[in-house]
Amino acid sequence: MLNKIDLTGLSLEEMERFVADHGEPTYRGRQLFHWIYGRGVRTFAEMSDLPVTLRTRLAERATIGVLAPLGREVSGDGTRKYLFGCTDGRQIEAVLIPDEGRLTACLSTQVGCALACAFCLTGKMGFIRHLQAGEIVDQALALQRDLQPGERIGNLVLMGMGEPLHNYDATVKALSILAHPLGPAYPPRRITLSTVGLVPEIVRLGQSGLGVNLAVSLHAGTDELRDRLVPINRRYPLKELMAALRVYPLPPRRRITFEYVLIDGVNDRSEDARELARLLRGLRCKVNLLPLNETPAIPFRRPSQERVETFQRILKSAGILVTIRESRGLDISAACGLLATETNQKRLDSTGCLT
Ligand code: SF4
Repeated sequence: MLNKIDLTGLSLEEMERFVADHGEPTYRGRQLFHWIYGRGVRTFAEMSDLPVTLRTRLAERATIGVLAPLGREVSGDGTRKYLFGCTDGRQIEAVLIPDEGRLTACLSTQVGCALACAFCLTGKMGFIRHLQAGEIVDQALALQRDLQPGERIGNLVLMGMGEPLHNYDATVKALSILAHPLGPAYPPRRITLSTVGLVPEIVRLGQSGLGVNLAVSLHAGTDELRDRLVPINRRYPLKELMAALRVYPLPPRRRITFEYVLIDGVNDRSEDARELARLLRGLRCKVNLLPLNETPAIPFRRPSQERVETFQRILKSAGILVTIRESRGLDISAACGLLATETNQKRLDSTGCLT
């Protein structure tokens, strides 16, 4: 029997090559690309402008879609968390977050994560594997299929499981497909890639011309503190990270976002805010403060509202644009830092930590 190729994850050029290898003109590749990514169809039978004979041949040789939907949970605040099965049995999660009349789709880029940030449940899973471009794109397509009448996805963020820049090639390929005018056509200014700060890949991303927004999970204003919270800081200390960000080619009127999870008694003191303000001085940026989402597997607490507001005030008075981000989907563990797939979650609950 012929081994079928899955088309989800192929770039336009790869799809054109695929049809050419089957004796078809390259414009058929563009049609396929548009049907799969732009219109989100899952069967060749629906591709009404392709000849029936071609549709039959394609169905014999190829498939569309690499993820199987396994579950969907809806939070009291309307956040929806989706569980998907990969073809090798691994599981990943993606989240749809309602936000001022539109939805933000939060996608995963890896199964687990190697970077072991101290407050993150995905980090506790350890690294299992990178996702392929098709597995990243297919999350967005699956979420689009689940939209209700009148709903639309306004923003895409790569803030789910994994560090997107650790999986650089697949991530950039997936984003190029998602931003392609013949595909889902998400404008790059509506896409945000969030990283803990892999410096060489930040430089590469800047040179890629992709033009997506960059968010950096900072969480500390000094190396001493950041080494503890974000271990990758030992490899790429703040001096190196900030130097790369200061020359990052930001499109006009855009800012780098810094994510800062506030942890009670760890990085939420007034002096921490002042260190942060010093570090960010002169940079076109904004800061999102995220009071920690508590979970039994993580030995940290959420600060008081008063602490959070004091921290915000200090940054504001230093002239920094700063917002406090409300946690979404807490009751279904869909909030930032709480994504870990069921199997691993069970292991976490029973052992308290993962080896
Ligand atoms: S915060 Fe991001 S980079 Fe850090 S462990 Fe979690 S998923 Fe990985």
